[in-house]
Amino acid sequence: MAIQWFPGHMTRARRQIQEKLKLIDIVIELLDARVPLSSRNPMIDEILQDKPRIIVLNKADLADPQVTEQWVNYFAEEGVSAFPIDASSGHKVGDILPKAKFTLADKIQRQINKGINPRAIRALIVGIPNVGKSTLINKMAGKNIAVTGDKPGVTKGQQWIKVGTEMELLDTPGILWPKFEDQQVGYRLAVVGSIKEEIIHLDDIAFYAIRYMAKYYLNNLQERFGIEYVPEDLENPNEVVKIMEEIGRKRGCIVSGGRVDLDKTSILFLRELRAGKLGRISFERPADQGAF
Ligand code: GDP
Repeated sequence: MAIQWFPGHMTRARRQIQEKLKLIDIVIELLDARVPLSSRNPMIDEILQDKPRIIVLNKADLADPQVTEQWVNYFAEEGVSAFPIDASSGHKVGDILPKAKFTLADKIQRQINKGINPRAIRALIVGIPNVGKSTLINKMAGKNIAVTGDKPGVTKGQQWIKVGTEMELLDTPGILWPKFEDQQVGYRLAVVGSIKEEIIHLDDIAFYAIRYMAKYYLNNLQERFGIEYVPEDLENPNEVVKIMEEIGRKRGCIVSGGRVDLDKTSILFLRELRAGKLGRISFERPADQGAF
């Protein structure tokens, strides 16, 4: 996965999605449940116009269930039906069809009133790279027909995948770009592993994640790493570094002279975090917009 988004790519991606919109009844907008707004395309409303849509919060297995609930309410207040799934295990993937039917209920009823037999709902999955589009397509298809990973610019012939008898899915998802002009968003996407690590230094990604966790999930840090230090002022970078150093010491990431190797600590910490070993953690919540 190595997509560089330049203005030309964005224009092309947008045009490709808008071409596909003509073919479909509903958009399934896939977001990362741990960072829903950061994993959202900044121009999504403009791109989709008034096409009906549902929001699917993927990787909910890794997200804090209480925070996910807050996001479901947040999107409900915006008038969009949002719900959590876990595309890799398939958990709650079965909710997609009933939610789509509910969202399109008026249209379906109008067809019935006109004496038209409603055909299968045609849907398109859209989302930024790594959010789980291919995994979800595979899961909904019931067999491995979509290749996992992104291949921008490679357009196969458009095919419909049957999802039972009531839904058809376009086999190639719409790939969107994230909001990377916002540094905060960049960090959040990097923490969940959706931005290449060459772009933001590993130490900075781990620093960001540890500071967020020290604020909201100190217990998880204490349980996993047995850290004892309790920070008082997370605006003070030294306090966050102290936690990082404690994690490093507990994991034996020491270089000569007894200094903690922060690079090694960061790699180790992020690996465990992304594998879900630190528990179910969300890195964005509706109430902390603008905060770190
Ligand atoms: P795409 O780029 O949007 O098509 O994303 P992929 O389907 O290739 O998925 C990116 C990565 O996320 C892969 O390693 C998947 O196994 C993983 N993934 C996808 N869905 C889930 C999920 O619900 N939970 C977890 N834990 N991992 C997931």
